[in-house]
Amino acid sequence: MIIAIDGPAASGKGTLGKRVAAHYGLAYLDTGQLYRAVARDTLAAGDDPTDAAAALKAAQALNPQSLDDSSLRTPELGEAASLVARHPQVRETLRAYQRTFAHRTPGAVIDGRDIGTVICPDADVKLFVTATPEERARRRYLELKQNGAEVTPNEVLADIEVRDERDQNRATAPLRMAEDAVLLDTTKLDIDAAFRVAIDMIDAAMGHAGQAG
Ligand code: C5P
Repeated sequence: MIIAIDGPAASGKGTLGKRVAAHYGLAYLDTGQLYRAVARDTLAAGDDPTDAAAALKAAQALNPQSLDDSSLRTPELGEAASLVARHPQVRETLRAYQRTFAHRTPGAVIDGRDIGTVICPDADVKLFVTATPEERARRRYLELKQNGAEVTPNEVLADIEVRDERDQNRATAPLRMAEDAVLLDTTKLDIDAAFRVAIDMIDAAMGHAGQAG
């Protein structure tokens, strides 16, 4: 069983994805960490994330063991990640890892920007999780403050708007809702409520898939 969760920056898809995975006993992959790690390694090599060849080199050398790293969650690496994510060859290099992960037994929850459209168009269930930019900025600001980051709410909102714009308008695998995805707007939902709605949506989609099959 593959559950694909896509959505814009700070939409809560990570928190939701982890809980959904635990609920169904599935593995979980946050694909944003892949792009953030490529950005980290590109910068560590002294290269520029807009340099396609340098970013590709980092993607090819990426160690999947290095993904579980909370220092990847900074706004700077989010910004650099959205730059390396624009290079088609970087995306192509990371594709096989994501697909292999998704197709494991008994299944996986995988979140990102292009999971329902490009990585797993065959996913059993596709959710598109979103919230207004203001609400996403508010949540991300609280999270960053809690981790001791020196940021202002306006900086967080500006970062989210720049990344949304870049992710939606890039030529390769832009952020968009798959035609067969279900929309989950969490603007007015806390995490528990969003989780319950997500489970209802997934159970309904699985039920329909079962009836059709
Ligand atoms: O989800 P997260 O904010 O960690 O993602 C960081 C950046 O990585 C995004 O802004 C986006 O540019 C890129 N990304 C992507 N495709 C994915 C996941 C993330 O392009 N599947």
